[in-house]
Amino acid sequence: MLEGNSKPPIFVRIKRTGMSKIDTLCVHAGYAPGRGEPRQMPIVQSTTFKYETSDQMGRLFDLEDAGYFYTRLANPTCDMVAARINALEGGVGAILTSSGQAANLFACLNICKAGDHIVSLNNIYGGTFNLLGVSLRQMGIDVTFVDHKATDEEVNACFRPETKLLFGETLSNPGVEVLDIERFAKIAHAHGVPLVIDNTFATPVHCRPFEWGADIVTHSTTKYIDGHGATVGGCVVDSGNFDWEAHADKFPGLTTPDASYHGLTYTKKFGRAAYITKATTHLMRDLGAMQSPQNAFYLNLGLQTLHLRIRRVSESALKVATFLKNHPAVAWVRYPDLPDDPEHEKQLKYLPEGSCGVMCVGLKGGREFDNRFMDALKLITIETHVADCYSCILHPASHTHRQLSDEQLRAAGIDPGLMRVSIGLEDPDDIIADLAQALEAAAK
Ligand SMILES: *Cc1c(COP(=O)(O)O)cnc(C)c1O
Repeated sequence: MLEGNSKPPIFVRIKRTGMSKIDTLCVHAGYAPGRGEPRQMPIVQSTTFKYETSDQMGRLFDLEDAGYFYTRLANPTCDMVAARINALEGGVGAILTSSGQAANLFACLNICKAGDHIVSLNNIYGGTFNLLGVSLRQMGIDVTFVDHKATDEEVNACFRPETKLLFGETLSNPGVEVLDIERFAKIAHAHGVPLVIDNTFATPVHCRPFEWGADIVTHSTTKYIDGHGATVGGCVVDSGNFDWEAHADKFPGLTTPDASYHGLTYTKKFGRAAYITKATTHLMRDLGAMQSPQNAFYLNLGLQTLHLRIRRVSESALKVATFLKNHPAVAWVRYPDLPDDPEHEKQLKYLPEGSCGVMCVGLKGGREFDNRFMDALKLITIETHVADCYSCILHPASHTHRQLSDEQLRAAGIDPGLMRVSIGLEDPDDIIADLAQALEAAAK
């Protein structure tokens, strides 16, 4: 869905309601029913849409008129939910995708092709690390990973003439390190490329990367935005701020005629919405990783309480992190909201109302102790999932990375003792009691 002056070709017109506060946007943005219309956002469970004349249909295919014609390209329910996320992020347009993986894939492929290059922070989610480092490389798009603690000089040295974007996460998964968005936006822009940020853990309630100079935001909506472990999904949001025309030679897909649309040029036809329009009319048309209207409906039910949930899990996580920090069996805790955390200064700048519910913990007892501890947990469940209403724990050395030795783990930058703990919506006292009894049981 698109807002602003550009005339969107295939998107529903969203009524402007003059809302501004985040909490109100979570409940209302993107859908304002009229007289006698459903109070809850309706599910438009239809593949196709009817027109009266052949010419009407033709004009849609030429991107001359706005309207729906096939749900692979756009669907009213998906667009309303995308509009809500777009309003929260403060963008010019957004699209839903089938997963967070598809969102990050689309964000890259929309401006990268074989022979191009990406610079990415190296502390990103493992799935994205593989997407960039394995799959995109196999497609001929190279990537250079750089440490988030690297100096400007070291980051600058990663760029090449064929570099098309800089990628990072607001809060890294699993390390919960805070990206210095302003610094990396400046670096990206100095090289004439956009900063693409995965804002999954922070959510737009706690951080809006566009306000700090990021150009494109992605989400795995599977995490906090859904928040109930119900639907896998993703979203790409365009700030509309990157000047593609100023670097026209780098982004020919946006700035030169598209033969598959009778020679239309996205930047000329859609202005600030060029990037997000192309993501729909070109990538979604060809790759088809759309979200189903039914899933978008469930996603929206989660989205309507996102503001309440992300605040609550952050508050609880700080209590839990403080408890763990003071426990004699705990070696270390990494949570950005702890006053003595190395990421705390950046947390105060970019996420002043709190980060999220995820933290990393290391225990003193070694791997056997870690396993006894996890087995003794009663409320907190062992899951690969993270960032929803259920408290859960993951030990990469025993689970996702179990094929690696301790030395190999260290070489990959993973502390063998690292446990990712995701705090849910249970009473924090119950979560703390569960951790306390499991630590006690593991010591026996
Ligand atoms: C989970 C996750 C993804 C991938 O999302 P899926 O919805 O599982 O495809 C991408 N980025 C981050 C930060 C994640 O946590």
